[in-house]
Amino acid sequence: MDRSPLFDTFARAPIAFERGEGVWLTTTDGRRVLDFSSGVAVNVLGHAHPALVGALKAQAEKVWHVSNLYRIPEQERFAATLCGATFAEKVFFCNSGAEAVECALKTARRWHFVNGHPERTRIITFAGAFHGRTLATLAATGNPKYLEGYGPPAHGFDQVEIGDLKAVEETIGPETAAILIEPIQGEGGIRLVPGHFLRALRELCDRHGLLLIFDEVQTGIGRTGKLFAYEWSGVTPDVMTAAKGLGGGFPVGACLATADAAKGMTAGTHGSTFGGNPLAMAVGQAVLDVLLADGFLDDVARKGLYLKQRLAAVVDSHPDLVDEVRGEGLLVGVRCKVPVAEVNAAMRDQDMLGVGAGENVIRLLPPLIVSDAELDEGVRRFDAALAALERAKAG
Ligand SMILES: *Cc1c(COP(=O)(O)O)cnc(C)c1O
Repeated sequence: MDRSPLFDTFARAPIAFERGEGVWLTTTDGRRVLDFSSGVAVNVLGHAHPALVGALKAQAEKVWHVSNLYRIPEQERFAATLCGATFAEKVFFCNSGAEAVECALKTARRWHFVNGHPERTRIITFAGAFHGRTLATLAATGNPKYLEGYGPPAHGFDQVEIGDLKAVEETIGPETAAILIEPIQGEGGIRLVPGHFLRALRELCDRHGLLLIFDEVQTGIGRTGKLFAYEWSGVTPDVMTAAKGLGGGFPVGACLATADAAKGMTAGTHGSTFGGNPLAMAVGQAVLDVLLADGFLDDVARKGLYLKQRLAAVVDSHPDLVDEVRGEGLLVGVRCKVPVAEVNAAMRDQDMLGVGAGENVIRLLPPLIVSDAELDEGVRRFDAALAALERAKAG
């Protein structure tokens, strides 16, 4: 293993895949595995969805990449679709979640700069957050484990506890630019942020002239049964990030904003070589066309309720191993009382994939196209994994 030519930054499970179809992956040694990880909330339409394969192939035969020095019709069209379906009026395209958050942070600082307040650079973030692995998004994340060894964290982040409105108010100062929050913390363990807290943050931002940024890299693109999770709360941000599911597996990130919030991002102030290239845009457009079709998102919400109901029964029958089901739509977590890595390994033994998260939570994130029968199969395998763990512990 230590002869791998790769950086050792991932502790990889000993399993590899050759192809996929829908919610199923086939390993290099021919086993069929039920994918309730979706590449960490990425493959919203599962593997090899015909609409995405078709869009990719069709665009591949036309043009893959042109620079943002020129107009890109596919990009303008995709941005218009995103704006039509959200609060946003402007979009910047990039290639990953961290880049989308970087753009959101820069947008907030520039907004204050062009408003005559260059001193307003600080961003309030929340304990348990995850915003990415670049130096700035790491500082926003604030997790000491990820920051260790990388020198002084990037300037300008103040972290408080979710729900502690008083701490947020006390932290706001003359240098504060924005508040950055995930409507549901994904990596942090599917921690739901109460709607009243989001509403209170909105009021604070309005009162103090701050921008409200929602990081929807994990919660967006239909995962919770709405296109974006902020729709559940009725609270509208000024700036929002998306990535993970946005390209259905093709690397696409986006920073969305109101026209006012984006007004400082003028020609030459930000850029990306690859961001928004025709290939990425064609696939992203195909993802949204499926998600925005009549009834699709309502069905995701329904399937999410069904999955949580079925999981609640599983949790009841394994009280020594698991104790809580949480989440919204198909962004579901089960809190474990044994190390989540053990549960994940036991699931792999049942030919099923999940993803670990903070607070010892196992995430179950099936592709949004999962059928009821496949949800049943997932619940059956999850139950079998827990039963096997119980037997191993008893024996
Ligand atoms: C995954 C994630 C990111 C980082 O995305 P990358 O594509 O890995 O850079 C940022 N924010 C949230 C909420 C995420 O879940």
